[in-house]
Amino acid sequence: MAAANPTVIYMDNNATTRVAPEVVEAMMPFLTESYGNPSSMHTFGGAVGQAIKEARGKVAALLGAEPGEITFTSCGTESDSTAILSALRTYPEKRHIVTTRVEHPAVKNLCENLETVTGHKYRVTRLKVNAEGLLDMAEYAAALTEDTAIVSVMWANNETGVIFPVAEMAKMAKQRGILFHTDAVQAVGKVAIDLKNLDIDFLSLSGHKLHAPKGVGVLYIKRGTLFVPFMMGGHQEHGRRGGTENVASIVGLGRACELAAAKMVEENSRVKKLRDRLEEKLLATIPKSMLNGHKTERLPNTANISFEFVEGEAILLHMNQHGICASSGSACTSGSLEPSHVLRAMGVPFTAAHGSIRFSLSVYNTVEEVDVVIAKMPEIIESLRKLSPFWKG
Ligand code: PLP
Repeated sequence: MAAANPTVIYMDNNATTRVAPEVVEAMMPFLTESYGNPSSMHTFGGAVGQAIKEARGKVAALLGAEPGEITFTSCGTESDSTAILSALRTYPEKRHIVTTRVEHPAVKNLCENLETVTGHKYRVTRLKVNAEGLLDMAEYAAALTEDTAIVSVMWANNETGVIFPVAEMAKMAKQRGILFHTDAVQAVGKVAIDLKNLDIDFLSLSGHKLHAPKGVGVLYIKRGTLFVPFMMGGHQEHGRRGGTENVASIVGLGRACELAAAKMVEENSRVKKLRDRLEEKLLATIPKSMLNGHKTERLPNTANISFEFVEGEAILLHMNQHGICASSGSACTSGSLEPSHVLRAMGVPFTAAHGSIRFSLSVYNTVEEVDVVIAKMPEIIESLRKLSPFWKG
């Protein structure tokens, strides 16, 4: 598949993805001639409402859900906030949240805020991870209490790609009568999801991580789950989220989900081969480099590699000069020189955490691009290490 922009080698797909051409095509009528309000009584608006209905069906099909369980939102962050705040409002007597130390800021910062801004009205348990980024299920079982309103655990980590056993965790929460939310923003389209067979009450996804546009997300709310809306307003989204719908993006997300459902298995296996080729070669050719995160319990597109004794930001700048786009830590936290909270939670040594690069591939990458990165990275790391006072190579 041809790159959309041949001047860059784009390996930053966990930050955002290229909108698929098929998705753009599906969206265009709703940015041009089909501009009616989906809530209008006239046929012109009604046709737009029908397009939203179809998109809802396509999202539901990818997730193994019912269309009525899908609520469109503005992004993954909104979906995360909506789920957690809904649980706290539904069960005001419960004041405890269980989450992990490696969540995306969308959940991490909300939980911090709930603790501090409310004067510690809420208590948060943050589960530890081991050196490979995996959870301890005994610690999880012990964390669930009578007072727990909701568990919020990401399906797959945005920095390392490590996958958590959310099916089992949701089951355990259900046995204790506790709501379970998963931030599946990085997982949707990369792992098989069949919600009708799972005890997950809430699931968040984001369009721009799966080749749909930015500014559209979904909150899945399992049928029968008590729910309090976050965005109050009109009757849109079955009264679950007020505000006139972002029609074109919703239609685009529907198309992206349809494409993912049709091609996911084949595309993920191709992407995994590219990722493995990149990872194996970099680890073999660059001394003092190491993989962060479990080798196999991981998304097929993500490789987080530390290059000891060099700064991630410096590496990124050098990569940028060759047109190679990647991230150091999470894109949302870049700009600060603090090592990522995810790598710190895994106990990655300081000298390695600082020099970590996240390569996240997509179906638009080619083997030629991978080979350019394989060829350039050793030079970049070597040149930077020569300048490092700590490198004794
Ligand atoms: N959750 C995870 C795991 C993410 O990776 C991201 C984005 O990087 C988000 C939530 C936030 O999604 P959005 O950018 O749609 O708000």
